[in-house]
Amino acid sequence: MLTDALGRRFYYLRLSITDVCNFRCTYCLPDGYQGKPNESFLTLPEIRQTITAFADLGTEKIRITGGEPSLRKDLPDIIAAAAQTKGIRTLAMTSNGYKLPKRIDGWVEAGLNQLNVSIDSLDPRQFASITGHDRLQEILTGLDRAAELGIKVKVNAVLMRGLNDQLSEFLGWLKHTPVTLRFIEVMETGDHSDFFKKHHMSGQSVKQQLLNEGWQPVLRAKSDGPAEEFWHPDYQGRIGLIMPYSKDFCASCNRLRVSSLGKLHLCLFSDHGLDIRPWMAAERDPAELQEKLVSLLQHKAPSHLLHEGKSGGTQNLSIIGG
Ligand code: SAM
Ligand code: SF4
Repeated sequence: MLTDALGRRFYYLRLSITDVCNFRCTYCLPDGYQGKPNESFLTLPEIRQTITAFADLGTEKIRITGGEPSLRKDLPDIIAAAAQTKGIRTLAMTSNGYKLPKRIDGWVEAGLNQLNVSIDSLDPRQFASITGHDRLQEILTGLDRAAELGIKVKVNAVLMRGLNDQLSEFLGWLKHTPVTLRFIEVMETGDHSDFFKKHHMSGQSVKQQLLNEGWQPVLRAKSDGPAEEFWHPDYQGRIGLIMPYSKDFCASCNRLRVSSLGKLHLCLFSDHGLDIRPWMAAERDPAELQEKLVSLLQHKAPSHLLHEGKSGGTQNLSIIGG
């Protein structure tokens, strides 16, 4: 089992398969992807080896992320490899929803059973101005199809003061839409300190508004992640709040991250990733990778240092996938 020095257990791996993205979200890649076009991202055999090693150490949930994971042509093979690994019970993915209606059937056929799609605004013009793409309707159509196929669907919206802080549109939508909408506080990253200072708003104000309007906290299981969830008898959807700046956020940390270049990130806001790529090679014994993971995990810090204005070495979240 993957356990750190503080006794936190890690059964959830977020695996980035590419840094490349075709969107230009204002808080992430406002100028679009600027990396090297020929960067050599993890190969399918390396991915398979890594997932097997994690699963043997008790990992039950894998989230495929990026950049934009759907830009990889071999995505269905990656989904299938992860879904077929012994011990993996949940195979999730986070996507910007690009061409979702065309692609979702293939992903579900390959074994995807949970999809998170990022939708920062339900106003088409605002959505286009945040992401650089006028594709809201297409994404919503894809979400409906995902729900029809019976997989669990969640929507991520980054809370931004002055940009999308009108909750009424989201609430109206949730009345009739059975999804969980998760508001994520915008996090400070190396590239976007100024954006953060201008637009960060605390999820606590949203929480207060929800409680005032009769939303009730969902009881949390011990193994739940950091989102605080709320339900309301008049609404089909639920709301989750992810508030990394709140007290004790890191106490329930249950996830590890591997970047698309084969670096283990013990925290989203570590100073740097730890290179495990040599151990990911398919020719090596997976037990060697397991040993490496167990020993590196002992260095996991108790908490991030965001409160002190230290956002670590992560320049933007497209590099390790949020
Ligand atoms: N491209 C995919 C997408 O947007 O869903 C997957 C990668 S993206 C980095 C994963 C999640 O991180 C998205 O929900 C995105 O909104 C969120 N994200 C990116 N930068 C962020 C930031 N600075 N603060 C909070 N969330 C952020
Ligand atoms: Fe791309 Fe996702 Fe970053 Fe938006 S948040 S630019 S979709 S990686």
